[in-house]
Amino acid sequence: MALDRAQIRYPEKSPERVLSSLPPAAAPAQQIRIDSESFRFPLAGPVRIALVEGKFRADKDMRESTADDLDWLQSYDPDALVAPLDIALSLADRRQRGLFDLPNLKTAIVVLTSFATTPLADHHRDLLWKAFGVPIFEQLRGWGGTILARECEVHDGLHIEETAAILQLHEEELLVTELATVGEPIIRARTGLTGEIAARLCECGATTPRLRNISKVHSKAARAAA
Ligand SMILES: [Zn+2]
Repeated sequence: MALDRAQIRYPEKSPERVLSSLPPAAAPAQQIRIDSESFRFPLAGPVRIALVEGKFRADKDMRESTADDLDWLQSYDPDALVAPLDIALSLADRRQRGLFDLPNLKTAIVVLTSFATTPLADHHRDLLWKAFGVPIFEQLRGWGGTILARECEVHDGLHIEETAAILQLHEEELLVTELATVGEPIIRARTGLTGEIAARLCECGATTPRLRNISKVHSKAARAAA
């Protein structure tokens, strides 16, 4: 894992405590592409899923598409759509202007966000809901593309994928240590974002901590880094 490659000595099972003693690091300058992972849909049951620019490995019942192949997307007419936030918003805009429709899209939209782009805000959710009227699930990626946190059916934060990342708050700012990166380790990387890490049990039954209320940080520390 990343910490081993960086030759950080940490006691078994408590890397978080040792990490806290390290200074925050700058966010990685550029995106590093990892080997593509399988997409994990948040709901059970057979669902026809269109992955638009997701760069996932498409499994059964999933098809991949590019954002400029809307004819294909409309003819596939999936039950669920997976797309980065900017593409999901542009599809919502087209839908509202009557330029585009997916009549079978009745299950969910999974919005992919990343530490390198804008977090999913309430007004984005409203816009997507108005356009498509289906539940929205956010999945947050690290700089390398790995999914680090996923929203569950309870819609009360994103469950942190504990095998993929350690997220910590440092002077209000979220710092990310990625555990599955290839190449340069990403340790305590600054995100420019703030949020809440909720440790209490989620109503969905999962015990992993959840990331809630993610937004841009405006603390002294973030201004100093700008
Ligand atoms: Zn949950």
